[in-house]
Amino acid sequence: MDATVTLKARAGQPAIELPAIGQGTWYMGEGLSPRQDEVRALQQGLDLGLTLIDTAEMYADGGAEEVVGQALKGRREQAFLVSKVYPWNAGRQSAIAACERSLRRLGTDHLDLYLLHWPGDIPLDETLEAFERLQAQGKIRRFGVSNFDIDEMQALASLPGGGHCAVNQVLYHLGSRGIEHSLLPWQRERGLPTMAYCPLAQGGRLRRELLGHPELQAMAAELGATPAQLLLAWAIRPVDGQRDVIAIPKAVQPAHVQQNAEALRLRLNDDLLARLDAAFPPLRRKEPLDIV
Ligand code: NDP
Repeated sequence: MDATVTLKARAGQPAIELPAIGQGTWYMGEGLSPRQDEVRALQQGLDLGLTLIDTAEMYADGGAEEVVGQALKGRREQAFLVSKVYPWNAGRQSAIAACERSLRRLGTDHLDLYLLHWPGDIPLDETLEAFERLQAQGKIRRFGVSNFDIDEMQALASLPGGGHCAVNQVLYHLGSRGIEHSLLPWQRERGLPTMAYCPLAQGGRLRRELLGHPELQAMAAELGATPAQLLLAWAIRPVDGQRDVIAIPKAVQPAHVQQNAEALRLRLNDDLLARLDAAFPPLRRKEPLDIV
């Protein structure tokens, strides 16, 4: 069975079950890969059950949203579509205009989830007001935040309407476990799911070190999986029998998309989880939120 995460019923929206692995889109629409390949990758992912698609007005300056729009042509209802607003566009009026621009690029009349990309200077209550207006207008179904640390989540929760926040999207992978110290437990207590970005540690040295780690490779081989699949299965592992983390790897190569979808069915036993903890220990003290 594919792993899922449930978003609770909130602010008039019924509960919804989502695949625990979705699709990221950062660097799509930049011309780094042929656009057709990016569109096809997203469509392949949709076909394989990776129906949550994460994008942002920031990515390729709107270009990633256009790629997503092309991929969703004629099949919008199959996707759970997430986009994000720049903090400096998250004002009472400006967030409405930014959302409308995103909708135009995406070729849809609504987002399933709209996130504040990171905390900024505009007071949060203004952003909440805009999100509530967008909900009332049917332009977004739910709202949430990204790159919020625990103090920022507490401030949000103390505001009227702040309790309707649907998710917090933060960096999380086996090589960066800081959120497990206090943010993740705080969110768990409140039934607030987490979206894990950079679940494959993006590109660069850290990713090579992580995917090439001998113990990770050995454990993946035992499972008949790739190191990347093991990383994804780890990020979305249930805690106390409950899954509440959705990983959103970005993949353009068809083999990667296929593997990421297969990771929805990979199960890690307690022995393996303990070995991963020994090789990649959780932090013992609070550190600032990791961001990219
Ligand atoms: P990821 O950790 O998802 O890494 C992406 C890289 O991993 C790509 O090079 C991709 O290659 C490769 N890859 C994908 N699948 C596999 C696989 N099965 N095996 C080996 N390699 C694989 O990094 P991202 O930064 O893209 O993070 C994921 C998403 O999270 C973003 O795309 C974006 O949507 C979101 N995000 C949100 C942020 C925020 O501030 N809220 C910040 C950063 C990301 P290829 O494409 O060639 O297949």
